[in-house]
Amino acid sequence: MNQHFSGSLFMVAAPSGAGKSTLVNALLAQEPAIKLSISTTTRPPRPGEEHGREYFFTTTEDFIARADAGEFLEWAEVHGNYYGTSRLFVEEQMRAGTDILLEIDWQGARQVKKQFPQAAGIFILPPSIAALEERLHKRGQDEPHVITRRLLAAGGEIAHAPEFEYAIINEEFPVALLELSAIVRSARCRFAQQAARNASLFAQLGIHAEQHG
Ligand code: GDP
Ligand code: ADP
Ligand code: 5GP
Repeated sequence: MNQHFSGSLFMVAAPSGAGKSTLVNALLAQEPAIKLSISTTTRPPRPGEEHGREYFFTTTEDFIARADAGEFLEWAEVHGNYYGTSRLFVEEQMRAGTDILLEIDWQGARQVKKQFPQAAGIFILPPSIAALEERLHKRGQDEPHVITRRLLAAGGEIAHAPEFEYAIINEEFPVALLELSAIVRSARCRFAQQAARNASLFAQLGIHAEQHG
């Protein structure tokens, strides 16, 4: 299946508060063809979050039963809650040749990369730890003890940034968005992706894509 997959798979990770969701939402507004995978989580909803929009919210018991049944392409415990990506959703979209974006942590990105080596990993970095703290407070959606826990975890997450192919420093938002968009456009021009999307043209031109990996 990997060989003939014409869509691109993107994984975006960041320490909490770096601006990952804001960047991803702005990208999706520009690029409606990219489908965002909605994860299932045991974290309680934040004010304004809706079941099926930001996440599928569920209980720990239900999550573990589904993980045991193999429903998740990857899953991980992050900040004391479980998060998982639907295997069915990703596989269906891949078969349809759709570009997919996963907002997942580094543990999940590692698991996905093992199954789909062509997945592009993008790590969003804050311009400083002080800015990260300020953004978490400004967002104002987490309890103070949750913010403290997330800040304490930031260093450990950032330590895994070198495992990703791309790094974006989210200082000036429009610049960071432009960079994210450039990564997406460049991935779509990878030889294998172009060949899979334009199979008949490539055949007419006498190009045998398999020679180019
Ligand atoms: P955020 O960090 O402020 O976006 O807060 P969230 O509670 O939405 O996410 C916490 C962490 O869980 C982030 O590092 C997310 O990337 C990660 N996460 C979200 N969904 C998934 C998932 O399906 N799988 C994995 N492995 N991690 C996820
Ligand atoms: P994450 O999904 O990484 O936890 P969010 O996307 O929720 O982070 O962003 C955290 C907060 O930082 C939000 O209030 C958002 O509006 C703000 N933010 C995002 N990017 C920037 C930026 N470049 N400069 C200043 N504030 C930002
Ligand atoms: P629940 O309400 O039980 O949490 O989930 C509702 C439905 O969403 C279930 O059919 C479940 O399989 C599906 N689902 C869970 N995770 C995902 C996901 O990441 N993407 C999509 N598209 N569906 C999901």
